[in-house]
Amino acid sequence: MAGILNEDANKVVEELEKLREKYESPLKKSVGMIQIYLKELIDEPLAEVKAAREVSGAAGAEHISEPTLSVSGQVMIEKEVQKTRDLVSDIVQEHRNLHKVVSRCGKDLDKHFEADLSGLLRNEKDAEGVVENRQTINKLMYEYFLDTGMSEVAEALKREAELPIDSKEEKASEDLKIVIELFRKREIVAVIEFLEASIYKKVPGYTNLLFDLHRQHVIFLLEENKDIKLKKDEALTYCRNFQTFAVEKCDEISHIMGAVFSYSDTWKSSTPDFKNPVWKLRYKNLFHPNNWLVVESNLAKLVSKINSPVEVLLTIGAKAMPSMLSIKNVLTRSPLISSEELPISVEIPNPIHSTFTCPILKVQATESNPPIRLGCGHVISKEAVNKLSANRNTRNTRHGNGFRWKCFYCPEDVNMQETKRLRFT
Ligand SMILES: [Zn+2]
Repeated sequence: MAGILNEDANKVVEELEKLREKYESPLKKSVGMIQIYLKELIDEPLAEVKAAREVSGAAGAEHISEPTLSVSGQVMIEKEVQKTRDLVSDIVQEHRNLHKVVSRCGKDLDKHFEADLSGLLRNEKDAEGVVENRQTINKLMYEYFLDTGMSEVAEALKREAELPIDSKEEKASEDLKIVIELFRKREIVAVIEFLEASIYKKVPGYTNLLFDLHRQHVIFLLEENKDIKLKKDEALTYCRNFQTFAVEKCDEISHIMGAVFSYSDTWKSSTPDFKNPVWKLRYKNLFHPNNWLVVESNLAKLVSKINSPVEVLLTIGAKAMPSMLSIKNVLTRSPLISSEELPISVEIPNPIHSTFTCPILKVQATESNPPIRLGCGHVISKEAVNKLSANRNTRNTRHGNGFRWKCFYCPEDVNMQETKRLRFT
């Protein structure tokens, strides 16, 4: 779905670009002409008369007549105004065509967006009605907001939902507020100083973040509204901070240095020069405005030290949802399959198990019946283990102080001492 919407959005941008390319220069020209006429035919004669009156004093002023606009001057101005008017109405007309492309985004969104996601899970939780569930979700969202640097939102949620938060998290939340505020003001040097003097420099991932902060500061220096030579010099001087990374970030540093040397004012990420081949082929990614967002999110993650699972949950949910929806359709349409559970594997990145269903007893694991990993690596429920080990059928042989039995999935003997309880979180 993201692909389809992305395509739609790209089309809108493309159409807007076309519109801009077609009308920007004639419109500018036309408006420029009007401004020249106004200046030469109206403003200047008025100013001249005013000046002459001032010079000749009160008595002489009466003899200097008001300036008049000649008929030909009037015609020229009117003609130019009409031209501009025509251009604007052309733009309005073409702009209407643009609506088709824009409304396509909405239509595609409606078509591919599933509003009703209920009935997908067997053990659906009541998120709104049960206070405990609601607070669990609120806490998850609180952590997610902190993790992404939205500390004000997290604070508001904590207050309004009356979330119990311990003091350690409060401290992280305060520090987070400071660094994110500085970062958003682009005071990167201050952010680095704060981190260097804090406990966060011991957190894994700090070195990479520090490098990214230095890199973004170089980009910031280059994109400032200053004389090009001056800011290039400043950026170059700042690049000395990369010295400590010389070994492990050698390629990246040379890439940044290359950008500093060849930087041109037309590369600004807010108004990039789309046609410049050096910018486009080599440095487009380095100057991409999204880099700021990525570094901000990493900075928030480092300081909040939470590593919110919401992002993982959303990614998995988004990946699993389409196949789960189609399974749901099959299940509800087919009279053969009743509400009984049907285990179907859904492809997701980095598979994570939140529940476990015993392949032998076909029941979901619980606290009293947890999943047990056998020596061979296969996992069954504790009840199944108990039943199988107690069963003195021909498969089992007496061994030491218990019965040895074979795994259901591979021919390996099970040694009870090698079994291990698994926990799914
Ligand atoms: Zn096995």
